[in-house]
Amino acid sequence: MSEIRHKWSRQEILAIYNKPLMELLYEAATIHRLHHDPNKVQVSTLLSIKTGGCPEDCGYCPQAARYHTDIETNDLMTVSQVKAQALRAKQSGSSRVCMGAAWRNVKDGPEFDQVLEMVRTINKLDMEVCCTLGMLTENQAKRLAEAGLYAYNHNLDTSEDYYKDVISTRAFNDRLETIGNVRKSNVTVCSGGIIGMGERLVDRAGMLVALATLAPQPESVPINALVAVEGTPMADFEPVSIWEMIRMVATTRIVMPETQVRLSAGRTQMSREGQAMCFFAGANSIFSGDKLLTTPNPDVGEDMQMFKFLGLQPQEPFLKGSQPKTVEAKDSQLKPLGERPKWTRPGHTIQRNEMAKTSSKAKG
Ligand code: SF4
Repeated sequence: MSEIRHKWSRQEILAIYNKPLMELLYEAATIHRLHHDPNKVQVSTLLSIKTGGCPEDCGYCPQAARYHTDIETNDLMTVSQVKAQALRAKQSGSSRVCMGAAWRNVKDGPEFDQVLEMVRTINKLDMEVCCTLGMLTENQAKRLAEAGLYAYNHNLDTSEDYYKDVISTRAFNDRLETIGNVRKSNVTVCSGGIIGMGERLVDRAGMLVALATLAPQPESVPINALVAVEGTPMADFEPVSIWEMIRMVATTRIVMPETQVRLSAGRTQMSREGQAMCFFAGANSIFSGDKLLTTPNPDVGEDMQMFKFLGLQPQEPFLKGSQPKTVEAKDSQLKPLGERPKWTRPGHTIQRNEMAKTSSKAKG
C-alpha cells in the first residue's frame, strides 16, 4: 500500500482536478481499489437534533437565524426520540448516525449532558456515532470521546482565502483549532466542504490542500454540492454540474487515499448514472433519509434500489479504528491566484455575471 503524502500545493491539486476525465477517473478508481472495497458504500444517517436559530451567518445555511427561510425550528430532541430514529436508520441499512445541532459552539451544561447521553445510547446500538455541534474545546472533545463518540464533523467548507466571503462570524483558523482539539481525543475527524458557493477552482484545490496536508488526514471527508435555499444569500446560485462533483470526488480520493469520501448534499440533483460515476471515482459513503438536516435528500428505498442496480453493499461500521492521533502540520503553500468573483450578503448586490463566468469556467 502506498504511503500517504502530506505535502500538496494548490497547483498540484489543480493539475489533478483538470486532467482529462478518463485519466482522472482511472487514477482515482485505481487508488480507491488499493485502499477500499469498491463494492461497499457506507450508508449514514444525518439527524438534526436541534434545528435553526443559529447565531452564525454561513451564507449557504437555512438554519442561520438572520436569514428568512421557511425551515421548522426545533429545540434539542430528547434521548428517546434520537434512539428511535437511530434504530429506524439501522434497520434501513445505516451504520453511522451523525447528529447535528445548529450551535455556534458547545456550551457545558444540561444540553451538552443530553447530547453525551445520546452518544452513549447510539453507541450501544453498535453504530458509528458522529456529532456536528460547532466549535469544541479539548475538554469537551474528551468528554464526547468518553461517551463513545466515533467521529466529530467540522467542515472547512472552502479555502482559507474564500472562507471570509462565506462566513463572517468565525474564521478558518477557528475551524482548524476545533479539528486540533478533536485530534487530542481518540475521536476520528470528519471534515470536508461544499462546492457551488461561487468559489473558484483554486478555492476547491485550496480546501483540499488544507485537508490533505493535515497529518493525519481526516478519516472522513464529505463533499457537498450547494443546495440553494430560498431566503439564504446563495438562494439564486446555479447548481454545480455532475462533472464538477465527479472531478472533486476523484481529486479528493487521489490526495486522501485512505479517507472515507462522502457524497453528501446535492444528491437529489444528481442522476443515478452521475452518482455511479462518483462511486467509481472513489466516493464510498452516502447519507440516507429524505432530509439532510433541512434540505431534501433521496429516499432510502430509492438508494437501496440504486445499490441493487450497481451491485453495491452497505458497508459495515467501524472499518477503521479510532486511535488517538495528533495534528502535525498544515502546509501553507496558499498564495493568491488571480481575482475571485464578488458576491455579498442580503442588502448588497451579487454580481451575477461574474458568478456565471466562474461557473462556466468551472465546468468540465
Ligand atoms: S452551517 Fe452550522 S454554524 Fe453555520 S449557520 Fe448553519 S447551523 Fe449555524
